[in-house]
Amino acid sequence: MKGGNDVEKKVAIIGLGVSGLSVLREYICAQEHEDLEIIVFDEENLGTGLPYQKDDKSLLLNQTSATMSMDPINPLGFVDWLDETLEIQDASGHHIPRTIYGQYLRDYLNKLIQKGNITFVPKKVSDLTIIGENEYKVSCKNDSYKVNAIHLCTGHFPYKDPYGLKGKTEYIHQPYPVESRLFPLLGKDVNRLAIVGTGLTALDIMLYVSKTNKDIQIHFISLDGAFTSVRGNIVFSKLHYLNKENISNYIDSYGDFIPLNQYIEWLMLEGESNGIDVREIWQNLGGGTPKGIEMDFRFLNELGIFQGIIHQLDDILPLIWDSLTNDDRNTFLRMYGGKWHKFRSPMPQKTAKKILELCADESIILHKNIQSINYIGNSFEINLPTEQLHVEYIVNATGPETDVEKAKLQDPFLFSLLNKRIVEKQMYGGIEVEWPSQSVYSSKYGVLNTLKAHGQLVGGIQYGNNSMGMLSRSAVMAVEHAFKFIKEEETNGIKNI
Ligand SMILES: Cc1cc2nc3c(=O)[nH]c(=O)nc-3n(C[C@H](O)[C@H](O)[C@H](O)COP(=O)(O)OP(=O)(O)OC[C@H]3O[C@@H](n4cnc5c(N)ncnc54)[C@H](O)[C@@H]3O)c2cc1C
Repeated sequence: MKGGNDVEKKVAIIGLGVSGLSVLREYICAQEHEDLEIIVFDEENLGTGLPYQKDDKSLLLNQTSATMSMDPINPLGFVDWLDETLEIQDASGHHIPRTIYGQYLRDYLNKLIQKGNITFVPKKVSDLTIIGENEYKVSCKNDSYKVNAIHLCTGHFPYKDPYGLKGKTEYIHQPYPVESRLFPLLGKDVNRLAIVGTGLTALDIMLYVSKTNKDIQIHFISLDGAFTSVRGNIVFSKLHYLNKENISNYIDSYGDFIPLNQYIEWLMLEGESNGIDVREIWQNLGGGTPKGIEMDFRFLNELGIFQGIIHQLDDILPLIWDSLTNDDRNTFLRMYGGKWHKFRSPMPQKTAKKILELCADESIILHKNIQSINYIGNSFEINLPTEQLHVEYIVNATGPETDVEKAKLQDPFLFSLLNKRIVEKQMYGGIEVEWPSQSVYSSKYGVLNTLKAHGQLVGGIQYGNNSMGMLSRSAVMAVEHAFKFIKEEETNGIKNI
């Protein structure tokens, strides 16, 4: 018998994408000295989740290999794996196909399976019930399981359907995996395709379609008519102003809130100390139109320094977001949110070059200010301010919902969690949790220290940061915290049971 407790404790991990895998890694470590049963629920894409499932190699990671390690001790874990397993050398700065990253994740999962003792339930969870202090019932088709802690790692919410086209034969609502979802477009006599959206999903679709069916003209339809920024030559340098210490000192001296203007000043100073003018970059780069992309290519070093600063904020974004008043948060979203996102999620240079090439021969065309889309039987009519466009197919690249009240309509499990007030809507996206413990806040039961939420579910608390690195690092803290309660070192004090 390991550990001091007589009774074996059980934990449930619901969903096994990058979030679930990171949580699993932490519990497998804990299993070395504690009696613990780990039950994992997922019915598809074990270990990879949605983005890294088996798919076409044209879909690339939007980050370089050096930032994609699953191993908290070895930040170059993925780079080493590429070298050892696939003999791809010096891949630190490369954007590798996501399907290869999926292979790395599956390999990582297999190593965990060999190390620990895991029960896999290949089913979707449909409900959970709170039975008592650190006691839950997890239900799925024909079965239920009693556990002492739960990690909700259910990942991406269902896709938005902003133009109400779901169900139309020529409308591809959710495009992954592109190899099978976009199959209807292959070998068919399709002349015009519209992609709704201009984010990284839209670029995935462009890369795949332009490779497999060269005769299609692709129309990008969006509100702002711009892609993201080009990934510059990223440099990571020490942050002197936007760091934990500075934020804590400010809060100690002036109280719980930090004005948005103070952050803007720190960002400017951070740029200055790295030899760039943040205001100039903000105004002139990251435009995302063909002209904007050309401009980015002329200033890749400056852009890379700025993107490096933004990237390094990953771990303190929740802290920054928490220190802003709602007024300042709304001001940020209104004035800077769109552009911030474009700098935070840049596209690989190779993809940007492809855009310029395809624009030059009008294989792709960008439109803005989309007004409405009508289905007219076998094709679509898209209304733009000065023209009407007709296309035979539409692919939706608007991404997942962020509002749980909308997402729940397509997800019975989320519906039940909200309905029973086990979870609460967070006004900036996802559900309410305590940070960094990631404990769910319930208006019926209070703070649930052994019910943790991860990934997109906590998007409103950590300002939408869903990068692989952030998910992996935050799992360390969440599991460590849950563990204190599982081992009964701390008590929960749940209300109303
Ligand atoms: C297209 C795309 C590309 C991306 N590229 C990058 C990148 O290059 N680099 C980067 O750092 N980040 C990238 N991201 C961010 C990405 O979101 C995260 O890296 C990460 O994959 C999210 O993992 P997750 O486990 O939270 O969610 P998911 O990957 O969505 O996994 C959730 C899992 O939960 C399961 N599940 C859902 N509901 C239930 C249920 N009721 N019961 C049981 N199981 C359930 C699902 O089957 C799924 O396997 C990308 C995101 C997208 C969408």
